[in-house]
Amino acid sequence: MGNFSYFRRAKIYPMKKLLGTFSLLFAISTIAFSQIEDINQKFNREDAISHFRYLASDELKGRDPLRPEIELAAKYIAKEFEKYGAKELPGATGYFQSIPFMMSSPPKTGEIVISGERFTQGETLLVLSGNDLEGSFELVDVGYGMEEDYEGLDVAGKIAVSSVGAPDQMSPGALFSLGAQKAKIAQEKGAVGIVEMFNIPSVPWQLVSRYLNRTQLSIDQGEANELPYIWIKDPKNKIKSDMAKGKIEEARFMIEKKVNKPVEGKNVVAWIEGTDPQLKNEYILLSAHYDHVGVGEADANGDSIFNGARDNAVGTVAVINAARYFAENPPKRSVLLAAWTAEEKGLLGSAYFASHPLVPIKDIVFNLNIDNAGYNNTSIITVIGLGRTSGDQLITDAVSEVGLKAISDPSPEQGLYDRSDNVNFAKLGVPSPTFSLGFTAFDDDINQYYHKQADDVDSFDLDYAVNYWKAYILSAQKIANMNEKPFWFEGDKYEQVGKELYGIN
Ligand SMILES: [Zn+2]
Repeated sequence: MGNFSYFRRAKIYPMKKLLGTFSLLFAISTIAFSQIEDINQKFNREDAISHFRYLASDELKGRDPLRPEIELAAKYIAKEFEKYGAKELPGATGYFQSIPFMMSSPPKTGEIVISGERFTQGETLLVLSGNDLEGSFELVDVGYGMEEDYEGLDVAGKIAVSSVGAPDQMSPGALFSLGAQKAKIAQEKGAVGIVEMFNIPSVPWQLVSRYLNRTQLSIDQGEANELPYIWIKDPKNKIKSDMAKGKIEEARFMIEKKVNKPVEGKNVVAWIEGTDPQLKNEYILLSAHYDHVGVGEADANGDSIFNGARDNAVGTVAVINAARYFAENPPKRSVLLAAWTAEEKGLLGSAYFASHPLVPIKDIVFNLNIDNAGYNNTSIITVIGLGRTSGDQLITDAVSEVGLKAISDPSPEQGLYDRSDNVNFAKLGVPSPTFSLGFTAFDDDINQYYHKQADDVDSFDLDYAVNYWKAYILSAQKIANMNEKPFWFEGDKYEQVGKELYGIN
């Protein structure tokens, strides 16, 4: 259960505004009644379920940003935004924010021979970036391959041989992220390539090679590394110790580069103008990623399509429903609607919007994001990050008016808050909880569907889906109508950056 002690520090209802318990209770319940009644009346169950079935249908082949079918999903969402009367954002192309992605596939062949031992691409060798490389070259041990490691060494026209990571940086993330930096240094020093010896017992090679030896997507930064950058499996550090003994001096390379292909990604975005002359200059961002993981091997039932009903067609439909309701019933603040692409490839669509925003980030006062793995309790809604901001009490209220109970993150060890699109906005200071289906633990009930072929609409409790969708609209409405700007609670790790963003002292 969540940390509700935060609520005591909330500043939503200052004491002097309490005119008397009875009148306040009366006022709240009257407003609440009309809000949820209105949503109940106008909510179109049939249309919502039909959006759900389409987005999670086999036709869309798992909404993989690497496959052409994702275009069908993007167009469908845009068409619904338009149909319901949400407006195009200035700077967007229609309802799309176009993203320059680079699709990068590993080479099929390639090898390095070091004193008779053969390392082959995809098995004991991984090409990470750079151009083709052919010929025999001298090897130079450059330690960890950081700037200071090159002192007194001449690598011009040779191969720099380094160890992965750095002495104080051995997490899987650091092993990957240091690479571009090291390749750049090696290139500056005149090396013709850099080969890193992978010998981290805590990070299995098999895991690494499965992750890296497949087609990947990234935002095209327009500056690809030219220097061949390669990992070799060397668990016992044999190559470097043989080099030290003078047993190895050179190696033969037959390396093919990765195949890079630019592809266009699309966030689907729209907005609805608020009604309050002042507050309409602020936005509440309603977002969900619409991509999923595509097609894979068939499961025991012969199903190879990962339909992603829970992850995250249900969330995409929530944003479509919100577009429909708020276009007809705009709240005080303006509403920004976003269906992100490529969340499953590393939160790429939302990261692109956060760095190329179509409205100033400081005008976005709250992001009510949706992402899901699954659910195991249909009487609750799990809000990742609940209890961290002054908007959260209104979410709790909204959820209970729909007859459900809001709980906060039950599995903090999963780090869910920092694993979805909301974090790209939280990092900039925007209060950004994720409104998830009800789960009390990341258990077998969740894993049965999470990133599995079985995650489809037929196994989804549709009455629960409808309640979830209504609770989302009501939560968004309450926050969009709040008089005060919602903000992080004191001491939150994103409080300081939030103050800087909004100019709060
Ligand atoms: Zn996912």
